[in-house]
Amino acid sequence: MLRNTTLFAMLLALFAAQCSNSLSTPYCLTTMGDGVSSTFSNNFNCTQVTVSGSNHIFQSSNLPNHKSYYYGSSSNLYEALPSGNTAAGTNKISSQNLKYTIPTTPTLKSGTLTGTQAGYVSVGITANGLAVFNNAAAPPDNLSTEALTFDNYAGHPQNSGVYHHHAAVTKVSSGMTNAALVGVALDGYLIYDEYCNSGSGSNFLPTANTNAATGNSATDSVGDSATSLDRLHGHTATTKHLTTATYHYHYMLDPTATIRTLLGSYFRGVPGTVSN
Ligand SMILES: [Zn+2]
Ligand SMILES: [Zn+2]
Repeated sequence: MLRNTTLFAMLLALFAAQCSNSLSTPYCLTTMGDGVSSTFSNNFNCTQVTVSGSNHIFQSSNLPNHKSYYYGSSSNLYEALPSGNTAAGTNKISSQNLKYTIPTTPTLKSGTLTGTQAGYVSVGITANGLAVFNNAAAPPDNLSTEALTFDNYAGHPQNSGVYHHHAAVTKVSSGMTNAALVGVALDGYLIYDEYCNSGSGSNFLPTANTNAATGNSATDSVGDSATSLDRLHGHTATTKHLTTATYHYHYMLDPTATIRTLLGSYFRGVPGTVSN
């Protein structure tokens, strides 16, 4: 009985702590199920991760764990936009029910690559549980114009309240030059900030690829080497988390967006699925 009472008190305290968290500090619920890869359990938060068959399932309310202009001026998580930026219309952050089914062992796509603009609600998840959008803006804008609506953490919501990053994830990697893991794409390949680290040396800047990403053939992987990137700003190399050389993406100058982005126009791998 004593044990039950103690457990009940602990649960009450936990519940109270979570309630007060959601009122006074950014919402962030992190759970890691049995068998989740240590790459995710050690580096991801604000998402609930489980393993189902050959996939990792990531679920997220997609609420930023930081202040944002787009929480709205009545929120205690509100802060002004960076100097020089303007609001993305009246868009406001709202809670989502995003569920990503991402292959645990990603595979390179052969033949025709899958476009990152093919109607996905999100094309990846950041290491702080937020949606990744690709290198395109809503027409007729281009992303370099749309970047002027980013908040202080380089994200913004679209018109139904889905907060997302096309570019820097500064809450995860300040300056984006730490060779930090900043997310995972829907195809299961990891996304790093601008710098790479083979796991045994110092951080280095991979050589960017300036080819326009217009083709959709998987055979066009020109530039992919241990120290340079292909047109999807990815390459095959070891990292602190990948002990055998494996494809991964970097936040890098994107020829289509004309600014640095997390992903390009195509997935290099076979994408999983996402719902909201
Ligand atoms: Zn956007
Ligand atoms: Zn790399």
